[in-house]
Amino acid sequence: MRVSLICLMINFLISVKAFAFEVCGDIKQGELLIIHDKTHTYLTAVGRDQTKPLDINGVKFDIQKTKWDIQSVRGVEQKKVTPSKEHEAAILREQKDVKKALNQKANKNSDWQKGFIEPVQGRISGHFGYQRIFNGIKKNPHSGTDIAAPLGTPVKAAADGVIVLAGYDYFYTGNIVIIDHGDGLKTIYAHLQSINVKQGENVKQGHIIGTLGKTGRATGPHLHWGAVLSGTRFRPQSLLDFAQKTCRSY
Ligand SMILES: [Zn+2]
Repeated sequence: MRVSLICLMINFLISVKAFAFEVCGDIKQGELLIIHDKTHTYLTAVGRDQTKPLDINGVKFDIQKTKWDIQSVRGVEQKKVTPSKEHEAAILREQKDVKKALNQKANKNSDWQKGFIEPVQGRISGHFGYQRIFNGIKKNPHSGTDIAAPLGTPVKAAADGVIVLAGYDYFYTGNIVIIDHGDGLKTIYAHLQSINVKQGENVKQGHIIGTLGKTGRATGPHLHWGAVLSGTRFRPQSLLDFAQKTCRSY
């Protein structure tokens, strides 16, 4: 009796020690992971092309590869596929503004912990990570998810946060909003028809930040929804299933 009690205690101590942290989500290219350790909860994102093992709390994890398909799009305005010299300044302004917004730490809270909703409901017309070919020319992989819906459909903030960019008339993204959800996590809303928010404004989840459009490099009305964690772009839909992600203890 006494021996088995001691065994039980030893087992208990081993299991407590073994639960150093928990990883929720697939350790797969383009996915967002939630890590719970004894003291806090934080996020890590696996890059689209990341192959080197992921280090979580000093443990190395192999990354599952994702098969990225090819998406061929015809009918894109040729100047938006092969921009001429005259567009250089406009493209530079866009890159500078977007980079600056993505580097901002405007939100001191961890608003992302409350979870995310879809900014708009519609048909997925472009998947994250796909290699894109515009008018037969190979371009950068798609950095977000495209959701097609009627022009003027209200676009909602996917979670609480601070507006770090409300920018107009950009060459590629058209009218764009970027929201800072804290701890390096931001969501991007591009090709908007109109914008209802201003830089520095606090928004709640579901707040109408603008309307769906086709500004910038777009062949039809859709929302380009992007998600970035400290510079790493990941599949935005992996924000939607926070509570359903499968967790494993290490
Ligand atoms: Zn897009």
